[in-house]
Amino acid sequence: MAEKKVTKKDAAQKTAKKDAGIAPNMAKEEKKPRIGVFICHCGTNIAGSMSITDVQEYAKTLGDVAFADNYQYMCSTPGQKKIEDAIKEHNLTGIVVAACSPRLHEPTFRTATKEGGLNPFRFEMANIREQNSWVHMHDSEGATSKAKDAIRIAVAKAALLQDLIPKSVPVEPTAMVVGAGVAGMQAALDLAAAGIKTYLIEQEPSIGGRMSQLDKTFPTLDCSQCILTPKMVDVGRSKNIELMTYSNVDSVEGYIGNFDVTIRKKARGVLTPDEAEARGFVGGGCNGCGDCDAVCPVIKPNNFEVGMKPRKAIYINHPQVVPLIYTIDFESCVKCGLCVTACGDKKAIDLEMQDELIKVKVGTAILATGYDIFPIEKKEEWGYKKYENVISSLEFERLICASGPTGGHLVRPSDGVTPKKIAFLLCAGSRDNTGVGKPYCSRFCCMYSLKHAHQIIEKIPGAQPYLFYMDIRSFGKMYEEFYYRIQDEGAKFIRGRVANILEDPETKNLKVYADDTLLDRPMELEVDLVVLASAVEPAADTNRTRKLFGVSCSMDGWLLEAHPKLNPCGTTTAGVFLAGVCQGPKDIPDTVASAEGAASAASIPIHMGEVELEPYFAMCIEDKCAGCGMCVKLCPYSALDLIEKDGRTVMQVTEAKCKGCGTCGGFCPGGAIWMQHFTTPQIVAQIDAFLVGGEQ
Ligand code: FAD
Ligand code: SF4
Ligand code: SF4
Ligand code: SF4
Ligand code: SF4
Ligand code: SF4
Ligand code: SF4
Repeated sequence: MAEKKVTKKDAAQKTAKKDAGIAPNMAKEEKKPRIGVFICHCGTNIAGSMSITDVQEYAKTLGDVAFADNYQYMCSTPGQKKIEDAIKEHNLTGIVVAACSPRLHEPTFRTATKEGGLNPFRFEMANIREQNSWVHMHDSEGATSKAKDAIRIAVAKAALLQDLIPKSVPVEPTAMVVGAGVAGMQAALDLAAAGIKTYLIEQEPSIGGRMSQLDKTFPTLDCSQCILTPKMVDVGRSKNIELMTYSNVDSVEGYIGNFDVTIRKKARGVLTPDEAEARGFVGGGCNGCGDCDAVCPVIKPNNFEVGMKPRKAIYINHPQVVPLIYTIDFESCVKCGLCVTACGDKKAIDLEMQDELIKVKVGTAILATGYDIFPIEKKEEWGYKKYENVISSLEFERLICASGPTGGHLVRPSDGVTPKKIAFLLCAGSRDNTGVGKPYCSRFCCMYSLKHAHQIIEKIPGAQPYLFYMDIRSFGKMYEEFYYRIQDEGAKFIRGRVANILEDPETKNLKVYADDTLLDRPMELEVDLVVLASAVEPAADTNRTRKLFGVSCSMDGWLLEAHPKLNPCGTTTAGVFLAGVCQGPKDIPDTVASAEGAASAASIPIHMGEVELEPYFAMCIEDKCAGCGMCVKLCPYSALDLIEKDGRTVMQVTEAKCKGCGTCGGFCPGGAIWMQHFTTPQIVAQIDAFLVGGEQ
């Protein structure tokens, strides 16, 4: 295709520059643009799919381009030095780097632009890797032509870029962690150890999350409670942690450094000693004696024991709860008052207690809301909730645990008999593309199923575990060795997915039907008990909570990190971080590591004392604003208000709250909203530059 030389008089840029006059901060005359273009090879990632020389020669022909160069790895130190030197040598006014995605290296090249003496926002990136060479690797001519388009469009914008000055805002020296499983507790303890006051918010009456329900932990087989309880106690004792259990986040306003969070403290019906003292009952409040529990007539299933043990309407989930304060389940309480009488002088019970809303201000927040077990009864072929002797892996954990409903004796739910032949179904609901289960791997079920197999061999003489698996994923430190150990202990492994389970109505034994893919034949096995290694999914309230904090999620609902490799604990909302399984399935070591990472990241802005906000704010051109207020209603971050000014109603932007999403700018009927760094003239110039390409 013949290439058209794009001249300085290019119509597109003329239109844009004419309109640029409306910008509130463009009053002063801009210098004639002198743009430097740098094309990256990325080894052969880019250079293998297009002609870099052709692209560079084309860039030189563009009207505002004063210099064009290429380099093997632009993000390397010599690559960045090229930018710095060229700015000085060629008196450049703007930089375009044609390379990978701005998500990866925009900050790198902004720094280089700044080091060269320009405002860092006089930089534009053309993505010629992810959006070009990687998808057009077998079409060199097409990729080369597309790279030229991308550069021409980027240059059109770069010619209109302006100096932008980021604003600094002070950071409140407090943090919040939502969810007090092992991830949330670890994050809160680390923040507290760094001297930061931390609010730890847990929706349940006590802390510990799923880990407190486990018996032993792979691969070391430590008792879960033994390693968790000291952390729970430390959380309860830490002077820097304000623990708020039976609470959740009601609303969030503000931005990094200044989040105003309203917490709903649910009515617990029972006073702590401090709360009792505040009401004038010195020496009163709940001491965990349990006298109320003994008299309460209402019996409900205990969710901590996966419904396998009862609890009362006034209850604690298990003896090691932190804090050791009873809770009334007001949905089932009949307000008979027997507990109040039993509690007597401690005056700890208030049957009329109401929810309380508490407002706190925090600088940063960590979400650590964990996971729930996928309702595996949806996979009807395995008979969960239909056949008594088909149980979930979490039920197995409670049954095998000494503090569980059977005192650690694994028994069949149907008859209380100790099972000998036990089938473990791995990938139950995970790696499932039928639309019923989850397409992802739940990551810890291979390992805990191996642990379960070990536990029955250890505890039940003559027991035989059968593991039906697709692949065994034993990827962690000492995990593969643990797998060999369980093989040596005598566990039997059958490679194949179980198609169906049927119960013998007489014996309540279960017939497991599967395809053995190694022997390439169907098989049938009669067992006493089936344990389903059920998939996991984001905790029930995750979606509401993430929306409050402005955090995105993946298609599966797991919370989305800012970058999976380079910023795995951050989110796209500045000041909000992720820890543990809320981000995707992780075992305990990975959960704790991610929590430590999140705590470190969340402490940085607090220790810095102030943060710079990206200056991509909306601005109101007051002369054009009709004060209609539509933009105020549309802004998802409550960044806009209507104010009275010089006898008129106009819109005002709170810059620190504005995330630069552009919703208001796209809507305003009068064109009264100016989006910094994405101005109308800049976008029009890019569209025009694209259309000029069509004339080539
Ligand atoms: P969670 O433990 O789920 O904690 C999240 C906490 O956040 C909970 O307390 C929850 O109530 C709270 N929360 C949720 N939403 C909100 C909200 N909106 N507001 C306030 N609070 C909220 N891993 C191992 O390494 N070794 C093992 O042996 C092992 N065995 C396992 C056995 C089974 C059967 C299962 C299912 C998992 C096992 N795991 C094991 C994995 C382990 O459970 C997880 O790695 C770990 O619990 C993750 O901790 P977390 O804090 O991220 O999440
Ligand atoms: Fe690769 Fe991007 Fe670095 Fe170039 S700048 S070498 S495209 S990662
Ligand atoms: Fe607490 Fe009173 Fe119940 Fe004892 S009787 S556990 S002090 S509420
Ligand atoms: Fe139980 Fe409620 Fe009666 Fe207390 S008032 S004993 S919690 S039913
Ligand atoms: Fe299946 Fe193992 Fe992945 Fe769990 S960890 S989904 S059992 S492969
Ligand atoms: Fe003003 Fe436009 Fe907002 Fe209406 S939508 S208040 S005209 S800025
Ligand atoms: Fe709100 Fe507009 Fe800023 Fe988006 S760009 S956050 S809509 S003010």
